[in-house]
Amino acid sequence: MDHDRLEDIISAVRADGRRVTVAKRAVARVLVELPDHLSAEEITRAAQRYASDVSPSTVYRILEEFERLDLVVHAHVGHGATVYHLAGALHGHLVCTNCGVTIEIPSRHFDALSGDLLKTYGFRLDRHHVAIAGLCARCRDA
Ligand SMILES: [Zn+2]
Ligand SMILES: [Zn+2]
Ligand SMILES: [Zn+2]
Repeated sequence: MDHDRLEDIISAVRADGRRVTVAKRAVARVLVELPDHLSAEEITRAAQRYASDVSPSTVYRILEEFERLDLVVHAHVGHGATVYHLAGALHGHLVCTNCGVTIEIPSRHFDALSGDLLKTYGFRLDRHHVAIAGLCARCRDA
């Protein structure tokens, strides 16, 4: 596990004048250990290994706090399901509507679209927040 990354999160919480609880430490640890797109339920289940009595509502509150501190971002995949991960390099998401797989793609794929939308509609694209739906290569071949 990346202990520096974990300590960075803990320091950021402390620097904001907030308490570092066992539950917060557990959620932070899960986010560092499982660098994936996880639902709040998955995070809760994994966090319970380190803080057995942590409840889903506590995990939601912690994720909100981490988001306010720009430590965590969320995105919507599948039918609007919300997933969380540590804030990091900007990327986009493709989600397969058949098998549900989420594919992380580099942000540069949106460069042309982003420029067009800004020029034509004055609209600033958020590349990360909502996944693009379609069929993955495996499902398309099947
Ligand atoms: Zn993501
Ligand atoms: Zn959202
Ligand atoms: Zn698929």
